Amino acid sequence: MKSISRKIKNEGEKIGFVPTMGALHEGHLKLVDTAKKYTDFIIASIFVNPLQFGASEDLRSYPKDIHYDAKLLENRGTNILFTPSDKEMYPEEYDTSIELPKLSSALCGATRPTHFKGVCTVVCKLFNIVAPNIAIFGEKDAQQLIILKKMVADLNFGIKILAVPTARESDGLAISSRNIYLSSQERKDAPVIYQSLMLAKKLIENRERNAKKIKDEIRNAISDKLTAKIDYIDIVNKKDLTQVNILEGEILIAIAVWFGKARLIDNITLRIP
Ligand code: AMP
Repeated sequence: MKSISRKIKNEGEKIGFVPTMGALHEGHLKLVDTAKKYTDFIIASIFVNPLQFGASEDLRSYPKDIHYDAKLLENRGTNILFTPSDKEMYPEEYDTSIELPKLSSALCGATRPTHFKGVCTVVCKLFNIVAPNIAIFGEKDAQQLIILKKMVADLNFGIKILAVPTARESDGLAISSRNIYLSSQERKDAPVIYQSLMLAKKLIENRERNAKKIKDEIRNAISDKLTAKIDYIDIVNKKDLTQVNILEGEILIAIAVWFGKARLIDNITLRIP
């Protein structure tokens, strides 16, 4: 992979990189479309990174269909699919990790304490291997995006990070590889996440500025659904992910909810006038 990407760059082509864990869907393919818009040569990766899964999480059952994924990527104009093995990425003697402790302890980091250390470590390795000009990530994973932008700046990567809006089902549910875990009742209930974000947006448009009141309204809406178990509902400053009490500036409303064995996340960004 390293020699191919260096050769392509030497030929004057710009590389766009889309890292994924596979089980691809329209959300991932939108990242490929964006990569194509800005670069000449598209590299996607599929690697289910063991470092970013907690001990009780779904590493073993994470959906996999590499041939189907490869076809989707090829049809959408991807030039190379990079699929390293666990052993190649983390040989026995492997010992380095990358951590951004402040940004990683908020939101998802509270219940997934080692998750972002795993994400940063693997993305750092992939960036060094692929050496892209531009890397493309989804806004669905808002905290991941913020952390990776900071990592790239802190470690002088010289790679531009592009963000792509969340791709949704027609009822608003954010498309996710984990949606296949949902039972039919859970699938019916899950759009409440996006609906509650839209409710919050409306409250803010109607001049509500008290974060607790907005979070309570979101909590009430989600608790209405019997299959939902809230992990967190948070309103934070988009820059440093610190809690906001009275809304001002650019804020992120982020939610994580369990439906059965699927932990689903979603978010919106709002600029408070
Ligand atoms: P994953 O395979 O879940 O690790 O995701 C790989 C990339 O796809 C990440 O940058 C995600 O943010 C992005 N992604 C996943 N779902 C969506 C979606 N519904 N819309 C946009 N991007 C997404």
